[in-house]
Amino acid sequence: MIPLRLVVRNVAAGSIVRRLGQAEGTVFREPVIELSYKNEALDHPLINRHHAVAMGIADRAELDIMCDVAYRVNDVLDGLFRACGIRLVDFKLEFGRTAAGEIVVADEISPDTCRLWDLESGRRLDRDRFRRDMGDIVAAYQEVYDRLCNHAKND
Ligand code: UDP
Repeated sequence: MIPLRLVVRNVAAGSIVRRLGQAEGTVFREPVIELSYKNEALDHPLINRHHAVAMGIADRAELDIMCDVAYRVNDVLDGLFRACGIRLVDFKLEFGRTAAGEIVVADEISPDTCRLWDLESGRRLDRDRFRRDMGDIVAAYQEVYDRLCNHAKND
């Protein structure tokens, strides 16, 4: 595993609201990618590409691949969730290096690692229900699953 988290944001929510004063729900003019250094003791601080290269976490070519893949995953998931009536607000990706040095997506993509809002009502269908003590977390995750299954059936 490469000790990086890439967060792709389409809409302002969570830490970027607090850090940069963006109103929650602001749609960004283009997706934003943020990098964090995966280090528990440091509380996973935000870093930039220069830090990642200087610290030997990844080289420039690897960072280009990770960002390209992150944008592509965003395009695919955004379309998929939109077709299910869900807005993909943001999500987190992690990557690993195979023995052959190939960069591959690793870890999970789930309502635990994405922000998913109902397109019409804005209802939260993700881990924020737990973080904000909103309840009904299992029902919300089940709803995401059901909508994805229904979409797959009808596709
Ligand atoms: N995220 C994650 N694991 C973490 C922290 C964040 O999967 O340990 C995901 C989170 O679900 C959201 C995105 O990364 O989809 C951006 O999270 P943010 O920086 O807003 O932090 P948070 O508000 O979740 O602390």
